Amino acid sequence: MASIFTKIINGEIPCYKVAEDNDFFAFLDINPNAKGHTLCVPKKEVDKILDLDEETYLGLMSFSRKVGKAIEEVVPCNRVGISVIGLEVPHVHVHLIPLNSMSDAFFKKKESLSAKEFKEISEAIAAKFK
Ligand code: 5GP
Repeated sequence: MASIFTKIINGEIPCYKVAEDNDFFAFLDINPNAKGHTLCVPKKEVDKILDLDEETYLGLMSFSRKVGKAIEEVVPCNRVGISVIGLEVPHVHVHLIPLNSMSDAFFKKKESLSAKEFKEISEAIAAKFK
């Protein structure tokens, strides 16, 4: 069965899209640690990051770097943290999390955003993605 992220990539489930190329897709996390928390996923559905072929792994990191740079331009933060967990959704994804304190990285403190805020932040990051 297709993962929830494959359904998002295919447009079967809505998301706040941030960036896309031939092989990768980025969208806002629906339950963000912080405003601008973004997930970068390979379109190829693989569960664990270390099981990706090397080309896809390196491509995902390169794509995530570009998305992270766009986030840095838009979201005031000390830095963008990069994290790979994957215990909830078995489809490789890189978390890009704007960090101002260590607690932003803990997946416990969550930010409540309105639909308008999700839309605005995704469009602002998308506009800076190069
Ligand atoms: P992990 O698998 O790394 O533990 O966490 C999965 C992440 O995906 C969580 O931060 C969760 O909020 C996010 N997530 C789960 N389902 C959806 C969804 O349907 N849409 C979006 N945008 N994010 C999701």
